[in-house]
Amino acid sequence: ELSLIWLRNDLRLADNPALTWACKQAKKTLAVVTLTPQSWESHGESAARMGLWRDQLRSVAEHLQELNIPLRVLRLDSFDDCAPALTDLVRELNTGALAFNYEYPLNERNRDQTVCKALESVGVEVRGFHGELIIPPGQVLTGQGGPFKVYTPFSRAWRRRLADFDRSVLPVPEAQQTTGLDSDPVPDDLDYKPLQYREDLWQVGEEAVSERLNCFIDEREPDYADKRDFPALPATSALSPYLTIGAISPRQCMASLRAAAGSRDWLESSWLNEIIWREFYRHLLVAFPGLSRLEPFRPEVEEKISWLKNDAAFEAWCRGETGFPIVDAAMKQLLETGWMHNRLRMVVASFLTKLLRVDWRLGADFFMRHLIDADFASNLGGWQWSSSVGADAAPYFRIFNPQAQGEKFDAEGRFVARWLPQLESVKPGKSRQIPGAGAALGRPEPVIDYKKARAASLDDYQN
Ligand code: FAD
Repeated sequence: ELSLIWLRNDLRLADNPALTWACKQAKKTLAVVTLTPQSWESHGESAARMGLWRDQLRSVAEHLQELNIPLRVLRLDSFDDCAPALTDLVRELNTGALAFNYEYPLNERNRDQTVCKALESVGVEVRGFHGELIIPPGQVLTGQGGPFKVYTPFSRAWRRRLADFDRSVLPVPEAQQTTGLDSDPVPDDLDYKPLQYREDLWQVGEEAVSERLNCFIDEREPDYADKRDFPALPATSALSPYLTIGAISPRQCMASLRAAAGSRDWLESSWLNEIIWREFYRHLLVAFPGLSRLEPFRPEVEEKISWLKNDAAFEAWCRGETGFPIVDAAMKQLLETGWMHNRLRMVVASFLTKLLRVDWRLGADFFMRHLIDADFASNLGGWQWSSSVGADAAPYFRIFNPQAQGEKFDAEGRFVARWLPQLESVKPGKSRQIPGAGAALGRPEPVIDYKKARAASLDDYQN
């Protein structure tokens, strides 16, 4: 008998609980992917992220081939087509079991429930696994048994709960018996759109990704807490694109951290803390389904904000032409590499929502369409946090001053000059962070006056 592993955003062979289970269920295993371009379009999946996904899938398919696990590519339209297509497939192949790793946004969960029902009704055993998280959703609860709404107590409880969950990394499964089935080719555009990303920056393959992780842990993690906020430095792991498509698991990240920690208390590592933020946003998505419908976590805050239809300013923000050096350099980094430093994501999101007063949903959608690490839960969490409508968000009246942020975190102006070449001829230091800097050299004038915009925003909020 044959078992199926339905691959989605879990493109790895090691530490993949669904794959491990599928291989144990039967002597023969087939991997299947479902191409659903209509659903991807409605979720705004970026060409960069899907390009990385395609190439990582190809790499995984080659390795699976070595384990005698062929890949079947089902070319569909939307999530709704998955249940009938998978039902046909299990009938055709006389399959007894199907495994997958859970995904947490609502549409994905609905899709999976429909598939489970359909396959179980034809006698197939279906199993889901929480391979995307270290601790499954619903397992970190308050004393009253409810979900945490604030991060710090969540993270403390998460650390306490950790001992109850398996921390060991699953090995790559053993080779299976041959199936006699051929692998399908993976189409270049995934039937979606032309896919493109900076292949020179983002290599695929499990070896390349593990090397990135190990390099970070050995060389940069010890200084992470001190350096992580400075965008000119390569101080963070840049693993987010790989975590997002599941080319590496958070458990692998934690294991590597732990192995290298020596006598240091790895549980208190600032880097692990960021991985726990990732878990927090996924747990929230499951506990509060309205978030998947883009409802604010704190509607009482959003009610007091009147978003402006500020098309010209929004477009200037999208292009990195607001005249605020740190904002524009960050947006250029996004447009050119598909990635943006975390500090700058907060700066540009605050700028868009609190100074231009553009609805956070437009910013979140733009990020989803451009980030190579676009991730529904973390992106939503980040945007709601930045606009003060999210869980554990700063109060609305805390508005980042972009110039001050630039002076603090890019004091020499190295980062801004890297992305805005006109600023190279401006003296290094604070002058590179002044709104309108380099205007004589072709940089735009500021789209707003910071002080006035701030006052107008606070006025609106308080009235
Ligand atoms: P590191 O600093 O090395 O952190 C390690 C890992 O922890 C990251 O790869 C990521 O998986 C996770 N992580 C780090 N910071 C956060 C955080 N604040 N929230 C949740 N997880 C975190 N992250 C995404 O992966 N995808 C997104 O679409 C995304 N959108 C964001 C939008 C906004 C407005 C904001 C403020 C943050 C967003 N983040 C997003 C979170 C964070 O900015 C990125 O995860 C981080 O910059 C990735 O770089 P890194 O891999 O070098 O992170």
